[in-house]
Amino acid sequence: MKLNKVTVDDINVKGKKVLVRVDFNVPLKDGVITNDNRITAALPTIKKLIADGGKVILCSHLGKPKNGPEEKFSLAPVAVRLAELLGQEVVFANDDEVVGANAKAAVEAMKDGDVVLLQNTRFRKEETKNLEPFSSELASLAEVFVMDAFGSAHRAHCSTAGVTEHIKDTAVGYLMQKEIDYLGNAVETPVRPFVAILGGAKVADKLNVISNLLEKCDTLIIGGGMAYTFLKAQGMEVGKSLVDDTKIDYCKEMMEKAEKLGKKLLLPVDTTIAANFPDPIDGPIDVTVVDADKIPADMEGLDIGTKTQELFAEAVKSAKTVVWNGPMGVFENPTLAKGTISVAKALAETDATTIIGGGDSAAAVIQLGFADKMSHISTGGGASLEYLEGKVLPGIDVIADK
Ligand code: ATP
Repeated sequence: MKLNKVTVDDINVKGKKVLVRVDFNVPLKDGVITNDNRITAALPTIKKLIADGGKVILCSHLGKPKNGPEEKFSLAPVAVRLAELLGQEVVFANDDEVVGANAKAAVEAMKDGDVVLLQNTRFRKEETKNLEPFSSELASLAEVFVMDAFGSAHRAHCSTAGVTEHIKDTAVGYLMQKEIDYLGNAVETPVRPFVAILGGAKVADKLNVISNLLEKCDTLIIGGGMAYTFLKAQGMEVGKSLVDDTKIDYCKEMMEKAEKLGKKLLLPVDTTIAANFPDPIDGPIDVTVVDADKIPADMEGLDIGTKTQELFAEAVKSAKTVVWNGPMGVFENPTLAKGTISVAKALAETDATTIIGGGDSAAAVIQLGFADKMSHISTGGGASLEYLEGKVLPGIDVIADK
């Protein structure tokens, strides 16, 4: 079903207090932000609300504080960076209880277009359990709620879901809208042919993704460590390659499902093998390429082979929509990154809508310099996987439909 959520373009926030859940979970080293991508990504929504005359109250989690407030998880450095990027003052409401005296006073003093950043929502133990009274306390600050933290949308927390029990005027921000458009709607109602590419280490991590995408796509490509369980399920010798023996039957089921649905399921036809897994992971390694059914018992498959690279690239060429999640091999090692690079290149060269589903494949695409060649790179690893599994994400579900 196509999602059609109320967005920040549909609401009138003039003079209103707007609570915005953003994803400011940035990497920090000794109190210094080492990558501010997530702050930059939130700017369009924040600027829009400022321009419309809203009073913008931002909230986010940062890291995983276990026992309440901890200085190293404070959002203080984010407030400083955000003020620089916006070119206007950002009041940091530093309260250990998040919605405390400082936050209330700061919000009370706001004028239209002002920005306040609350302290780390995970300083409150209720946050990750979606419990009261934190949800109602957060809600008491504002009249409108905007969700723009896709990376947290797969979790029903106070700041992503609970708060909407008390604020009925809700919308998604631009970042969320983009994720919904690409990951949701492109997968639900794709322009065909639709090719899905899955890789990564284990079949077990992606059982539901394989099954769901098989129903939606025209061609499912499987590479990476997870391919060897499929090869073994076809009766092939896979040597010391990564295999999940408990999932052999599942792989057989998926191959039967593909056949029944008339979907193409492409598996590696050759593979890059070595005597052992590289140690260190990026260290030198001797490799050879053999056909998929010729893996010696004492060798390990660590990347797709050259013929497979061509096969996969060819399948991508004729596609109109491509979704990719998970690397084709041990891409951390330059010798074993060729398969992943070739898939990234194939995606970069096609005119199809190309969607990268977070995690390692997103990192690989960015690292290889292909980021601007992709239609969409998801900002949420876990959230994008759950979306591809066909799950309803709580942080999207709670937002009003148009
Ligand atoms: P995330 O879960 O963060 O979204 P992902 O879904 O992109 O990541 P994972 O399932 O985590 O991918 O798997 C990535 C890992 O799989 C990489 O570290 C890579 O080295 C490893 N991997 C890929 N191919 C193989 C292989 N043939 N043998 C062993 N490991 C492999």
